[in-house]
Amino acid sequence: PQPVVAVVGRPNVGKSTLVNRIIGRREAVVEDVPGVTRDRVTYDATWRGRRFTVVDTGGWDPDATGMALKIAEQAQVAAELADVILFVVDAVVGVTDADEIVGHVLRGSGKPVILAANKVDNQQMELEAAGLWALGLGEPQPVSALHGRSSGDLLDVILDRL
Ligand code: GDP
Ligand code: MG
Repeated sequence: PQPVVAVVGRPNVGKSTLVNRIIGRREAVVEDVPGVTRDRVTYDATWRGRRFTVVDTGGWDPDATGMALKIAEQAQVAAELADVILFVVDAVVGVTDADEIVGHVLRGSGKPVILAANKVDNQQMELEAAGLWALGLGEPQPVSALHGRSSGDLLDVILDRL
């Protein structure tokens, strides 16, 4: 079986956009409405001839009470099914309480975690990405899922951890 990369993070950080970028298709459901990805959705990806599975997660209602618990559960499930976890944070917004909860769950998972600082659309925003060191998950990898900026670098980092 091919290695599994689970993409986790709170709603609206750009998980599905990043999954689309990784698989090179426009298939994962992306909308401006947060939390639109219904459940875990699995895709095949190839990078530098290496095949792996990408799992897009989501499906909770960000306005619902108990969102923090749902996010923690989702991160837990993703960590269990994955070989590598891709934790996506919105570098423009910075670290939120929900991000800290996910970070806490993932640090305890024992699985390799890659921290993607998404929405770094230009060089000026690289500075924003540095704020994500605060999550205690190592070096944030700046990327723009929307424009593709540094997405090849991120894929190289993913490949290194598979
Ligand atoms: P998800 O809920 O985490 O799956 O997030 P989505 O992929 O649905 O994206 C949420 C919103 O963020 C959409 O409006 C995307 O177009 C936008 N978005 C995603 N990635 C980027 C990015 O790299 N830069 C910018 N500026 N916006 C992005
Ligand atoms: Mg989504």
